[in-house]
Amino acid sequence: MTSSARPLLNRRLAEFGTTIFAEMSALALRTGSINLGQGFPDTDGPEEVREAAVRALRDGRGNQYPPGPGVPELRTAIAEHQERRYRLSYDPDAEVLVTAGATEAIAAALLALVEPGDEVVALEPYYDSYAACIAMAGGTRVPVTLRPYDHSFRLDLDELRAAVTDRTRLLLINTPHNPTGTVLTREELTAIAELAVERDLLVITDEVYEHLVFDEAEHLPLAGFPGMRERTVSIGSAGKTFSFTGWKVGWITSTPELVSAVRSAKQFLTYVSSGPFQYAVAEALRLPDSYFADFRADMLAKRDLLAGGLAEAGFEVFRPAGTYFVTTDIRPLGESDGFAFCRALPERAGVVAIPNAVFYDHREAGAPFVRFAFCKQTAVLEEAVKRLKSLTG
Ligand SMILES: *Cc1c(COP(=O)(O)O)cnc(C)c1O
Repeated sequence: MTSSARPLLNRRLAEFGTTIFAEMSALALRTGSINLGQGFPDTDGPEEVREAAVRALRDGRGNQYPPGPGVPELRTAIAEHQERRYRLSYDPDAEVLVTAGATEAIAAALLALVEPGDEVVALEPYYDSYAACIAMAGGTRVPVTLRPYDHSFRLDLDELRAAVTDRTRLLLINTPHNPTGTVLTREELTAIAELAVERDLLVITDEVYEHLVFDEAEHLPLAGFPGMRERTVSIGSAGKTFSFTGWKVGWITSTPELVSAVRSAKQFLTYVSSGPFQYAVAEALRLPDSYFADFRADMLAKRDLLAGGLAEAGFEVFRPAGTYFVTTDIRPLGESDGFAFCRALPERAGVVAIPNAVFYDHREAGAPFVRFAFCKQTAVLEEAVKRLKSLTG
């Protein structure tokens, strides 16, 4: 321990403290509550993909440092996936980079592309690592708040345009959006693309929920819009799509110049990761369309189960068009403070949720919203709904 008065944690990170997920997961354990807080599935992904990982491990593929950009089999599979899904072509050697999950992709991209003093415009509420990584890069975050409108959260395009200044370096976009479940529309994405081109901005787009879109919503990759292919770093991940969040296999696709810049930062973070899992994810990306359709149908049924149950329990529900989260408004229950509500919920109903305010700079804008994850077994969701209905008894 140092005896100086200077705090140990540096100024860039001091505001971030411990994540709410740690506090809430501990609370879930202590009270025997159902944990709908953190977004990880409670069943593992496809057996054949697990077997592919075992095979790679046994055959000695990936047990030593894999190549810095990722194993060629996986880079090729990622390029094929982008081509098959979106008609976007990437050179597996120069335009694909494998990372330790999307989390490292976000960190490396921001550390590589942001100069101290640069402004980064991001959609608020945001995934918790964005703010911390912008801070580590020395950037200034400029939130543009998604506003509740007609049972979903929408982007105000005028607000977005107004947020861009001469100091703006890049836009950090997330669609499908965690925690709101918003999927940006073709019109919204067109406007974002036009703004990026007009103001000559780089764009980082976090699309880890690309395969989790419901009803008539469609995931459109931002890189596919005019003028975007050359200025966009697109981020994907196997964690959410294949239900292997512990494997930490993510990737970026972009131009050779942007990939090379991001790799400069990435090589000094993890250098490489997840050797045998990279081979398994290469096989997962080549699963037939039926896997992706079944996965989506399964999550859709779970969304409807939880969203319906929350509505019956008295919450206002923002039915998500994508992701595996549902955001609710607790005001119809006579509550207004999501933090207090979530801290009391385990004792009151035996369920853990996350106050959306943790994803906001403008805490008051997020105060009445609470997020529940539905990537859980049907019986678990049914029990959670039963418990939540006891709130209004
Ligand atoms: C889960 C999540 C990530 C992190 O993905 P990993 O591949 O597990 O690192 C990134 N962005 C969003 C929006 C997420 O929900």
